[in-house]
Amino acid sequence: MIVKRRTIPLRILVNEALLRRLPPNHPKRQEILKDLLIIRAGFKGEQDIDYYLSLLDDNDFHIFQDLRIPQGSKHFQIDLLLLSTKFILLIENKNMPGIIEFDPDFKQVFRRYNDTTEVYDCPIDQVKRQVYQFRNWLKKHNINPLPLEFLVTYSNHGSILQNPSKNQEVFDRVSKGGNLIFKIGEFQNSHQKEILTLKDIKKLTKLLIKSHEPETASIRKYNISPSEIIPGILCPACDRFSMERISRKWYCLHCGTSSTSAHEQAILDYFLLIGRTITNMQLRKFLLMPSRTIATYLLGNMDLKHTGSTKNRVYSKT
Ligand SMILES: [Zn+2]
Repeated sequence: MIVKRRTIPLRILVNEALLRRLPPNHPKRQEILKDLLIIRAGFKGEQDIDYYLSLLDDNDFHIFQDLRIPQGSKHFQIDLLLLSTKFILLIENKNMPGIIEFDPDFKQVFRRYNDTTEVYDCPIDQVKRQVYQFRNWLKKHNINPLPLEFLVTYSNHGSILQNPSKNQEVFDRVSKGGNLIFKIGEFQNSHQKEILTLKDIKKLTKLLIKSHEPETASIRKYNISPSEIIPGILCPACDRFSMERISRKWYCLHCGTSSTSAHEQAILDYFLLIGRTITNMQLRKFLLMPSRTIATYLLGNMDLKHTGSTKNRVYSKT
């Protein structure tokens, strides 16, 4: 059963908002788009693996999607963790079409796609480092030591895996998505001894969920300042900042589209790009709209938390 579900990475939401609100000729747009496509592909790949994991018996594993656990001043991140009473399995997923060739002698992987060759660090080592860090974490929390298994999965149907040196570890530890449940079956066969009780599992599940710290994302990564963000309300039909408030609705002066909710995306963009909280005055400045009464009305009708008295009220996302 899934005990922790992944959420859309904040970096996806921030980069999408940046692409909505940076001028078309902004020098960082290419880099922001490139990062967005990579993170989206990773997210999609993990969702594809969920299908194969859904074929497992619901009672066999507690499944954690996307864990990010602090350790010292850093974090370690696990795409998928499967917890059972007999062993734990860590999975690192890759969503990469093309020919993937493992070179275990030099701990590297080549990817040939669209007439180009790229080189990556070996993902088996990557997941082994996660195992090492996770083992230390378990020790620190006095959890009974139990076998830790690991796999690298390639979720993309267009991944062509190659292991020219016939390396045994690559055969054992790398799997296409479709083969995943059979690999898991092998681990289940080789680990028959119950080490954790169901009570231990419950305790560990609680501890893992409590320890998870979602990744943050801000515009500082690209050295962008809030003054570069275009204010105003985007027309949902023609993608121009040309909406104005006319008799209780937003009207696009360019294409004539009307909307009662176009301000909501703008307010969410504000939270993603500029600040975690917003005041009435900040909203009016951002929506390019002078009316305090309308701003109060709009903020009151969104599902936002607020603190402070009516006059100095500060709103934030729930
Ligand atoms: Zn329009």
